[in-house]
Amino acid sequence: MIRERTEVIRSEDNQESSGRDSGFRSLSPAVWRASTVLFDNIADFTTRKERLFDGYTYGVTGTPTTRVLEDRVAELEGARHCIALPSGQAALCLVALSLLSAGDHMLVADSAYGPLRTFARDYLQRFGITCETFDPEAGSAIAQRLKPHTKAIFLESPGSITMEMQDIPAIVQAARAAGVRTVLDNSWASPLGFRAVPAGVDVVVEAASKLFGGHSDLLLGTVATDDRGLYESFRTTQSVLGQAVSAEDCFLALRGMETLELRYRHQCAAALQVAHALAGHDLVQDVLFPPRPGDRGHARWSASFTVGGCVLSFVPRLPSEAAVHRFFDALQVFRIGASWGGTHSLAAYYPAAEQARRQHCRIDSGIVRLSVGVEPTEDLIADLDQALRNA
Ligand SMILES: *Cc1c(COP(=O)(O)O)cnc(C)c1O
Repeated sequence: MIRERTEVIRSEDNQESSGRDSGFRSLSPAVWRASTVLFDNIADFTTRKERLFDGYTYGVTGTPTTRVLEDRVAELEGARHCIALPSGQAALCLVALSLLSAGDHMLVADSAYGPLRTFARDYLQRFGITCETFDPEAGSAIAQRLKPHTKAIFLESPGSITMEMQDIPAIVQAARAAGVRTVLDNSWASPLGFRAVPAGVDVVVEAASKLFGGHSDLLLGTVATDDRGLYESFRTTQSVLGQAVSAEDCFLALRGMETLELRYRHQCAAALQVAHALAGHDLVQDVLFPPRPGDRGHARWSASFTVGGCVLSFVPRLPSEAAVHRFFDALQVFRIGASWGGTHSLAAYYPAAEQARRQHCRIDSGIVRLSVGVEPTEDLIADLDQALRNA
């Protein structure tokens, strides 16, 4: 379906630009750049707003290249609609701004992506929206946290850094009963690991910068939903806020997605091997990775998710912060850096103070987070071992 659409676009392109049908066809989508969108006549122009949701009006809401990406992601998510946005964080903020008004209340998982919690606390609250965090392990007890003016629950499972698994089916059920929207940041699992829209989640956000892009060189986010009304409100908000995405970035995400499943399956299997090696290491206190049997969240993970993730965390058993710094500086295969999901393995550090700032965090130590790439797995395991010993 997507490929047919690509070819139609391509042949029109050939005819328009060269005046002849060269018969050129490619396996890749065309990169269509535009601020201006042309109209055949003034009647089409004056009614252009009617095409905001299904057609093209202005470059800010996308070109045919954007639509190819949006259709591809919607298909993967099992959702009717998708919107591409400039980053995962932009996607989360756009959903919050679309769903919430002054006087509303929102709940966000205490383990959710930090910048989303910051946006809620430092920005949305200034505009009269109250925001509270909830214990990510709460499950159906979330019902007790709902207020008459609660409009949305922001979920992320497993949580960023500390990896708590949420009971998504129980939370979705409680939210539905109360008429509250659920929004899931599904970046860790991706739709290959968990198809959240068919599971009843209202809105699914992906940080496409991570697994979809897959090469640590682009920023992009997606929002998917089955609800036409929500889709229209997200598209309107995108237009009003000017949240444009470049066609080149859409192209790169589409190219990344050609190998998404291959990369993901390999990286998940490698991450599980790394998790097992760390769990048996004498300088490791705790491994946080729900796909590993024995993990605190494993039962919840295996109840809903199919493939694992490529991001895991662990608590090193090292005597001091200085020793942790020596561990990082001794790493040779893992590189130090934020973000994740690319072909290069990365390590990042979250000191104890960051966990202490949270309300519902059961871990009070510094946490090392790893993103497992495509290097030989034995090299990754050996690198962690030598760096721990050198610390
Ligand atoms: C990285 C990340 C985001 C934000 O994505 P960007 O594209 O970097 O803005 C959102 N959620 C999670 C879970 C992430 O890891």
